[in-house]
Amino acid sequence: MKEADVVILGGLSGISAGISCRRHYPDKKVILIRKEGTVLVPCGIPYIYGTVGGPEHNVIPDGLLEKNGIELIKGEAVGVDREKKIISLSGGETVGYEKLVFATGSGPLIPPIQGINKKNVFPVKKDFIYLANLLNAVDKAENIVIIGGGFIGMEFADECRKGRNVAITVIEALPRCLQNAMDDEFCDEAQAKIEETGVKIMVNEKVESILGDEEVTGVKLASGNELKADMIILGIGAVPNTGLAKKTGLELGFRNTIKVDRYMRTYTDPDIFACGDCAEKVSFFDGKPVGVMLASIATSEARIAGANLFSPTHNNCGAISVFSTVINERAFAVAGLTERHTKQTGAEVVITTAEAPDTHPAGMPDSTLTKVRLVFAKNTGIILGGSLSGGKPVGEMVNVLSACIMHKMTANDIVKFQMGTHPALTSSPLIYPIVNAACKAVIPLTH
Ligand SMILES: Cc1cc2nc3c(=O)[nH]c(=O)nc-3n(C[C@H](O)[C@H](O)[C@H](O)COP(=O)(O)OP(=O)(O)OC[C@H]3O[C@@H](n4cnc5c(N)ncnc54)[C@H](O)[C@@H]3O)c2cc1C
Repeated sequence: MKEADVVILGGLSGISAGISCRRHYPDKKVILIRKEGTVLVPCGIPYIYGTVGGPEHNVIPDGLLEKNGIELIKGEAVGVDREKKIISLSGGETVGYEKLVFATGSGPLIPPIQGINKKNVFPVKKDFIYLANLLNAVDKAENIVIIGGGFIGMEFADECRKGRNVAITVIEALPRCLQNAMDDEFCDEAQAKIEETGVKIMVNEKVESILGDEEVTGVKLASGNELKADMIILGIGAVPNTGLAKKTGLELGFRNTIKVDRYMRTYTDPDIFACGDCAEKVSFFDGKPVGVMLASIATSEARIAGANLFSPTHNNCGAISVFSTVINERAFAVAGLTERHTKQTGAEVVITTAEAPDTHPAGMPDSTLTKVRLVFAKNTGIILGGSLSGGKPVGEMVNVLSACIMHKMTANDIVKFQMGTHPALTSSPLIYPIVNAACKAVIPLTH
């Protein structure tokens, strides 16, 4: 039997937890057990089908583990004996631990649609060989239907079209694509951008059944219409991989995620931690459980878990929910709450907008208009959220907003920002859009 001070089960957040543990406790022996031979960059999966061209170009190198002194065992953990502190693997091997981290992640949600098990229906699994087969199917397809107009569905649509003569239709049940993540203005802009490429979006529409004998030939929609399809990609959400946690006797909470405290310790066993998509999340804003699964949250939780394994060091402030995406070369990003979220809770807010080119002057090469929309709490002036669209800088501007939110900055704090600017790299300091939107909020917030 192998033994280690710390055993981690997982991929992306498992690596992050392992590195954090080794930084805080360099004398501890750490083993990562991972089901897959190769771990993919999960957020890079849609780019396999266009920009990067294959799963082999979307891999997190195992060298990262070696560099940080973490031993890798490729295998599936199938049992945990909490009394003896022993993990058993599907191949019959056993591994002893002092502390154990569940970072077992999530898999695709598979809806109970009639015909869902037909050949060429692809839920998005984080598995190298499976995704290589999906690439073969995309290369042969003439008609692709994507179920779900969230960011995974939209990214797949945008990538699958690249370099191919293929008809792509995204079916979204809500009135707008990306509606759960962004406010209407940005949803409409994103839809217009993807439609420029020839991708068709059908909103307020549901797939009722998948047609064909063994292999998919089309879909029947709730409206009665039928669409031809030789493959279907599902992008409608994820469910946590918590079967082993349940079998181990760990308490599960919201939507079957593992219940953890603010130190990422499981409720059930002080020597077992959990982080990433398999762990329960609570909102930064109200402490209530939320179903969001993002790499930003997973890796933050993993750093916290790794640091806390032998002594409480960091605590988790809750999920802010910060993400970004690119649709037909325009970036969209959100940190924290949108106007839609605040309407659902009834919170009184002040919302301001600003826009500016992301270079100054705007005539600089590759200049792109950045749009910003900020949400402030009316009673405190604290920033609750921000949404952006624009060019590549948006990917980092949203992280600035995330930091502002996490540190509960007010509009008055942001007004005083000293932001670094450069003609080729940023908006003008005279009209820097995050600051400008905050300046516009100051007076309404005092009335
Ligand atoms: C297509 C796609 C695009 C995405 N894009 C973004 C994005 O742009 N930005 C963003 O923030 N988030 C994005 N996400 C979400 C992000 O990928 C997840 O939040 C992230 O992968 C969570 O990491 P994790 O380590 O918790 O879980 P996972 O990445 O699911 O990893 C869990 C690992 O544990 C392994 N495992 C499970 N059970 C066992 C076991 N019993 N024994 C051994 N190993 C086991 C799994 O096989 C897997 O390798 C995207 C997700 C998808 C599917």
